[in-house]
Amino acid sequence: MKPLKIIVLAKQVPDTRNVSTDAMKPDGTVNRGKLPTIYNPDDLHALELALNIKDRVPGTEITVLTMGPKRAADVIRESYYRGADYGVMISDRRFGGADTLATSYTLAKGIEKLAPYDLVLAGRQAIDGDTAQVGPQSAEKLNIPQVTYVEEIISLNDDEIVAKRRLENGVEIVSAPFPCLMTVHESSPNCRTRVAKRVMKYKYARTQTELESKSTEDYIKELHEKRNYLSIPEWGVEDINAEMKKIGLAGSPTKVKKVESIVLTAGEAKVLSDSAVDIDSMIVELIQNHTIG
Ligand SMILES: Cc1cc2nc3c(=O)[nH]c(=O)nc-3n(C[C@H](O)[C@H](O)[C@H](O)COP(=O)(O)OP(=O)(O)OC[C@H]3O[C@@H](n4cnc5c(N)ncnc54)[C@H](O)[C@@H]3O)c2cc1C
Repeated sequence: MKPLKIIVLAKQVPDTRNVSTDAMKPDGTVNRGKLPTIYNPDDLHALELALNIKDRVPGTEITVLTMGPKRAADVIRESYYRGADYGVMISDRRFGGADTLATSYTLAKGIEKLAPYDLVLAGRQAIDGDTAQVGPQSAEKLNIPQVTYVEEIISLNDDEIVAKRRLENGVEIVSAPFPCLMTVHESSPNCRTRVAKRVMKYKYARTQTELESKSTEDYIKELHEKRNYLSIPEWGVEDINAEMKKIGLAGSPTKVKKVESIVLTAGEAKVLSDSAVDIDSMIVELIQNHTIG
């Protein structure tokens, strides 16, 4: 079959799974300086799905697209190390403060600039915002079909792709025509590890902003003059032709008014023995308060 053009949406997120005691400020907001940034876990699953398709359909090209602050270029480098062909950063202060509506609008504009494409893969959800809305909203804006919770690609041909979806009570097999968007579930295979040769090849890949930074050594700048593939494209508002009223804070109807740190404490504790009487009474109690049954 003909090679595919796949776009993977990948987000850099604070590592909320390893929260230390000083990760929250007294006012309940996240102390981002204390949390290392990582590749959003579901997005690594999406990258693996793309790489798996590339293994099955030779000549397939994978482009990773990320929107975020300048440091999010790490996501592009990590994608290169694991097998992605191209990477693009959407980065501009004016995109800051975006909710899911503005994020999906911005990503959709970036995807349109990368067109033609066959498949867009996103993670199911990001571990910081946790909404799982950006994938489906992007498909809506691109006016293409979407398949959510994808666990595995069963088959594909020039016209359609057949995927297994992981649902709460089982699985569902669905097909979609190209181009389409899929969100990838965490039950899909883990992403393959970095390839040493690719790390050597791409470790000096930089955006223009990184290249101009004082901390970038001269030999890296010289390498960039000879090796075009090291340059990570960086797109701002004008590059993707975005409308100002649809991006950043202006394009975000969601306003997070307050973030509270909630510590759950057990109200009451009961000690039960392993006797049949105690177990029976516990089951009756759990049925009565609708915990089970
Ligand atoms: C505590 C908190 C609460 C929030 N609550 C809300 C809310 O109620 N409503 C709201 O609209 N926004 C909310 N936001 C903002 C929201 O996190 C951002 O809009 C974010 O840019 C996208 O939403 P998400 O992280 O939930 O992504 P999800 O929708 O969970 O992400 C799904 C997938 O979309 C792709 N994706 C998402 N963002 C990017 C990106 N920047 N670059 C590339 N790919 C991406 C990834 O593949 C990701 O796996 C909240 C943020 C925080 C920190």
